[in-house]
Amino acid sequence: MIMIMLGAQGTGKGTVAGLISEKIGIPQISTGDIFRKNINEKTPLGIEADKYISKGNLVPDEITVPLVENVLKSEETKEGAILDGFPRTLEQAEKLDEILKRLNKKVDMVINLTTPKEELIDRMLTRRVCTNQECKATYNIKLHPPVKEGICDKCGSPLKQRADDSDSEAIKRRLEIYEEKTSSLVEFYRNKGVLRTEKVSISINRMAKDVAKEIVEELNK
Ligand code: AMP
Repeated sequence: MIMIMLGAQGTGKGTVAGLISEKIGIPQISTGDIFRKNINEKTPLGIEADKYISKGNLVPDEITVPLVENVLKSEETKEGAILDGFPRTLEQAEKLDEILKRLNKKVDMVINLTTPKEELIDRMLTRRVCTNQECKATYNIKLHPPVKEGICDKCGSPLKQRADDSDSEAIKRRLEIYEEKTSSLVEFYRNKGVLRTEKVSISINRMAKDVAKEIVEELNK
């Protein structure tokens, strides 16, 4: 099962992907998480990727596509993957199709999460992530805060704000890139007949966990 999470930054892609992954036992593969881990560990990949990420720009395909290909070829994803943050452009989507074809796989389901624009910036500013790279739990200090302020409920490690979530220029740039490059993927996958669109919004009281629950229930039918 190859599932893709689509949606602007702050819609809750990571949260939905994580919850579905826990329930169906298919790993969540977040390109953003892989990059952040490499940045923390100061690997050559991390140092290169950080030049783009810190400004809110996309990491070039020469780096991103082989990285995803290697993960998709690995033992970890032999039963499938929930791709969170990839593809982000039409070129990446086409390259993903080629990679999957070589592996005798295909995109089975694309979940497109939508959130009113006015909520997105606030969600990024109030997002906190676990500093433990093995845990990576995500919180929102307004919508789903941890039980103990600044501490991860799951593993007890400190929480922090992502560097690109605290920089308003980087946030603006990321949302622009989403509009310019990523939003056209909705049409691309709709035409393939694999798209499912779900609203996540405090204004309609429908949060990431409700969406994840429904999708898992349907997958288990
Ligand atoms: P995310 O955690 O998905 O918001 O990703 C954080 C940052 O990592 C993005 O703003 C990009 O700079 C970079 N990134 C993640 N996924 C990709 C991708 N598929 N292509 C290019 N850059 C990416």
